[in-house]
Amino acid sequence: MVRRRTAVPFLVLSLAALPAMAQPGRNQGVTIQPGEACPPGMTEVRPRTCQAPTLPPPSILDYRPRSTLVAPAHPVPKAKYPAIDFHGHPTSQLGSAEGLDELGRALDGINVRLIVAANNVPGEALVRQTALVQASATMKDRVRFLTGIDLRNVGPGWAERAVAQLEADVAAGAVGIGEVGKGFGLSLKKADGTRLAIDDPALDPIWQAAARLKLPVFIHTADPQEFWQPIDFENERWLELALFPNRRYPADQFPPFEQLMTERDNLLRRHRGTTFVIAHMGWHANDLGRLGKLMEELPNVHTEVGAVLYDIGRQPRAAHDFFVKFQDRILFGKDSFQPEEYPYYWRVFETRDDYFDYYRDYHASWKLYGIDLPDAVLKKVYFGNALRIASRLPQSGWPK
Ligand SMILES: [Zn+2]
Repeated sequence: MVRRRTAVPFLVLSLAALPAMAQPGRNQGVTIQPGEACPPGMTEVRPRTCQAPTLPPPSILDYRPRSTLVAPAHPVPKAKYPAIDFHGHPTSQLGSAEGLDELGRALDGINVRLIVAANNVPGEALVRQTALVQASATMKDRVRFLTGIDLRNVGPGWAERAVAQLEADVAAGAVGIGEVGKGFGLSLKKADGTRLAIDDPALDPIWQAAARLKLPVFIHTADPQEFWQPIDFENERWLELALFPNRRYPADQFPPFEQLMTERDNLLRRHRGTTFVIAHMGWHANDLGRLGKLMEELPNVHTEVGAVLYDIGRQPRAAHDFFVKFQDRILFGKDSFQPEEYPYYWRVFETRDDYFDYYRDYHASWKLYGIDLPDAVLKKVYFGNALRIASRLPQSGWPK
């Protein structure tokens, strides 16, 4: 049943609740009609009867209930198998030999053997960072780079330049392309000032070159769909949108979510010979049926789990089945490089633990559950699939 707020019960509240509060020991409710929601500040205590708390309610920031659930807990500080983080964003660590050493120690602590820097960096910076990694005795096989496509000013002559740069970047050691950022589709403009659509045919030569060069394309399109919705108290991402105003996509400034998905799917469909990895489970982790349909239609589409753990871990049975079904096309990736956050992923993937904390309250107001993946699936998600689709990654020394 869809419940809609109406203004009427609020008036009822003002008249009815005041006398109740004035009498200690009594807290009378208000009645609502079938299909109506309780007025603001009240909750449904019996069918169609709403009541207000007799104490001032805490804000969602301050309400941190201590769970009394007693259940087996199996924290997983290190991944069970050496992992490849396909969605890595180390930054300052890539700037010096000391930084690389520090990165190595952090990766050891969580059993990430190899991090793919998805920082969209081509050209001279790619050459410099690659040289630094190659010069490190301990890190030379533990960091690899995706290159970036400069999608600004697409127009006459753009494709030739972009393909030439891509070839140079492959020669310099790039193992793929990405992360193609969300600005592609949301805001990037062409040379003529119009929005660059994700399925713009002017870009076809670059996706064809990726297929020819056997480079996977790692692409982040749009954002969680709630970022396009009204920021009201029914929005799952209210807190995030309130914290980060630049994550709101008002309709008068940005294309709709569905348009971006359509353009992305057109791109994936038109280039079936190109291997795509759609980041963040394509922002369909909250609708695995939809993601499954896309992946069934298009075998060139792979996906990655960064920053959507809250959706995986809130549907442990469906997520388990999805990971088993698409075990050859899901890659581990973390996104934001915070070593202390990786163990939450390991725990969701590897255990059957119930109802445990997530690491970021503003993503999700709920708890997580383990999805208990079989070892064979874990190995594919942690490293096997990345090694297969990005053949330039260091291929030796991985578990059988
Ligand atoms: Zn990213």
